[in-house]
Amino acid sequence: MAPEALEAMLPYFSEFYGNPSSMHFFGGQVQKKVNEAREQVADFLGAEPSEIIFTSCGTESDNTAILGTLDSYPEKRHFITSRVEHPAVMNVSSHLSRKGYRTTEVSVDREGRLDLDELKESIANETALVSIMYANNETGVLFPVEEIGEIVKSSGIPFHTDGVQAAGKIPLNMKKSTVDLLSLSGHKLHAPKGVGVLYIRKGTRFSPFMIGGHQEKGRRGGTENVPYIIGLGKACELAKKHLEEENTRVRALRDYLEVKILEKVPNTLVNGDRNNRLPNTLSVSFEYVEGESILLLLSDLGICASSGSACTSGSLEPSHVLRAMGVPFTAAHGSIRFSLSIYNTKEEMDYIIEHLPPIIQRLRDISPFWKDYLKAQGKV
Ligand code: PLP
Repeated sequence: MAPEALEAMLPYFSEFYGNPSSMHFFGGQVQKKVNEAREQVADFLGAEPSEIIFTSCGTESDNTAILGTLDSYPEKRHFITSRVEHPAVMNVSSHLSRKGYRTTEVSVDREGRLDLDELKESIANETALVSIMYANNETGVLFPVEEIGEIVKSSGIPFHTDGVQAAGKIPLNMKKSTVDLLSLSGHKLHAPKGVGVLYIRKGTRFSPFMIGGHQEKGRRGGTENVPYIIGLGKACELAKKHLEEENTRVRALRDYLEVKILEKVPNTLVNGDRNNRLPNTLSVSFEYVEGESILLLLSDLGICASSGSACTSGSLEPSHVLRAMGVPFTAAHGSIRFSLSIYNTKEEMDYIIEHLPPIIQRLRDISPFWKDYLKAQGKV
């Protein structure tokens, strides 16, 4: 979390604990602060404050955008998304398919780029919504969101994008965008975990997902998580200021790490379109080793990366993203993702570069697949 965001939040746990819905002055001053946070978020997104709904997380924003739109077009029973979405969209698509909706998951190529022809061909009269992510959370690959939006809007269909990974990394301006609904999540922006935003363009048809009180103008019931909303507002203000640093210093750190890893570790691939990626993300596959083993050994050294082969579900299958891209099995299993931020330093990159190559070598020395590979190459 940004220290400034934490500092802005703290008084709203103690001194100013009023409920923004209350009529008295004590609630009113909190309501004023929530409105200020809404303005900060709107300013960050180039949107109107009335187009901002606070939610509990990116997942709630994605679910609300999809289920809330489909609910307002009951006669339309087709949903389009991509094969590489975050589970917050992917699993909603599977849920819809079990409920009798027709769903289309558009393919990507080996570099993780969306097949725009397949998207065009899949649009039908019965399509209620297209939801395609802005940037992929595993590879950082950026989709051409405005081009996608033009295709979708030319058929008069609403367009949602999961902007969770893109926000704070690339400039967003909803006033000049084709996007109707956009999801954000606090913790990707140095705000706390457990708060999110759904942007809904004025005039977009929508039914609330969280049905309850009059909060958020009746579009999301439930008492507001005031301190977290204030932290998110502050984080958005900071993210706007740090955008340039993300695209210069952070990008240079990521590129340095990438070049050094490729130089020092043989049989290594970078996943995703290297010319069209978020500045902070590096997905890298080390052939013939297990991503989880690499992560555990890195973790022992205080290096926190995440698994691209995501066996979080306990399955030994590589991630759906890398499978959709056709990354070979031997590489997909050994994938890890580094996500950098403005708080990372060159010294930290050097520390990784010092310790990663011996870890990979150690794991390959005990890998039967690596031994088979060396034999096939006539190297043993
Ligand atoms: N969408 C994307 C692309 C993400 O990367 C994430 C979280 O990592 C989410 C949605 C879900 O956000 P949250 O964890 O706030 O529910």
